[in-house]
Amino acid sequence: GFRCGIVGLPNVGKSTLFNALTKTAAAQAANYPFCTIEPNTGDVGVPDPRMQVIAKIGKSAQIVPTRITFVDIAGLVRGASKGEGLGNQFLANIREVDAIVHVLRCFVDDDITHVEGKIDPVADADTVETELMLSDLESLERRIVGIRKRASTKDKESLAMLPVMEAALAKLTAGEPVRVLLKGMPADELAILQGLNLLTSKPVLYVCNVAEADAATGNDYSKAVAAMAERQGAGSVIISAAIESEIAQLPEAEVPEYMEAVGLTEPGLDRLIRAGYDLLNLITYFTVGPKETRAWTIDKGTKAPQAAGVIHTDFEKGFIRAQTIAYNDFVTLGGEVAAKEAGKARDEGKEYVVQDGDILMFKFNN
Ligand code: GDP
Repeated sequence: GFRCGIVGLPNVGKSTLFNALTKTAAAQAANYPFCTIEPNTGDVGVPDPRMQVIAKIGKSAQIVPTRITFVDIAGLVRGASKGEGLGNQFLANIREVDAIVHVLRCFVDDDITHVEGKIDPVADADTVETELMLSDLESLERRIVGIRKRASTKDKESLAMLPVMEAALAKLTAGEPVRVLLKGMPADELAILQGLNLLTSKPVLYVCNVAEADAATGNDYSKAVAAMAERQGAGSVIISAAIESEIAQLPEAEVPEYMEAVGLTEPGLDRLIRAGYDLLNLITYFTVGPKETRAWTIDKGTKAPQAAGVIHTDFEKGFIRAQTIAYNDFVTLGGEVAAKEAGKARDEGKEYVVQDGDILMFKFNN
């Protein structure tokens, strides 16, 4: 499954957020089961209110969400790339995740020490990013030596890799994360770059951890972070870890009232995941039956056979067609039978690009 690493300087609220996210999921146990794999790893069902609606119409006995794993990666301090703090272990942990959730302290509290002495989330982001860039620089400089040599002997693979590595090296030398190269990069180069598994090429979502009073509106700190994220091709979201922590401890019935009191319409987990899906260009399709309503995550632009392959490789290999009902048609018409009668259950073939919310049923050869 998909793995997100939660990173940030000490005392910014990483553990508070991690515990709240995973506890919120645990509290909603029936729908979003949660289990602890390791002490700092939590497996969370992706909340999607559409599933309840579909399951009710389709009379499904169960709801099965897709899952995301959060890893609380502690131990990052200035100098990590040189082995300070948990240095190398920290960087190795980041190497294993698909995306980075970078928590930034955007709340003022004189009782809680800030390791850098003052609240400045943009500078903090830079401190962390610098460690990641130094680590990438070191690993790239090491690896490029051999590639240059082999490229000079006209080795095909090395010839393809070299320009991508040089471009990444140039960015890092200029003090920029490799991520800025990704936008608009041709698919073959993108594959090479992603194969290098550099830390700063991973997608980043900044979480602005704000005080309770700023949860609904954000503050000047979170505005500065949003502007930085925009420049970098990263995402950002405003969350109050303190509020999420409170929500996680409340009985489910009291959550709506509490959220209204603090000016929120949905829990931070939902917003965090939606922002993550947007950033990563992920969408969801559903399968519906008496046994279960189930969500499946795919990349935006995925065609029907490959979408089927997420369920089972046999579905992709033997793909014939996909009966497709758009979410809105399914809901407004009141289910599959009515959608069929209204001519809203389309038979789509191999070239169909699956849309977010589609309710699919695959026909395939065994
Ligand atoms: P970590 O080192 O980044 O994992 O940070 P922790 O989650 O352990 O939080 C460090 C301290 O900051 C703890 O005492 C938290 O209770 C406190 N803290 C975390 N989030 C908030 C917040 O949103 N507001 C305030 N005032 N304190 C917070």
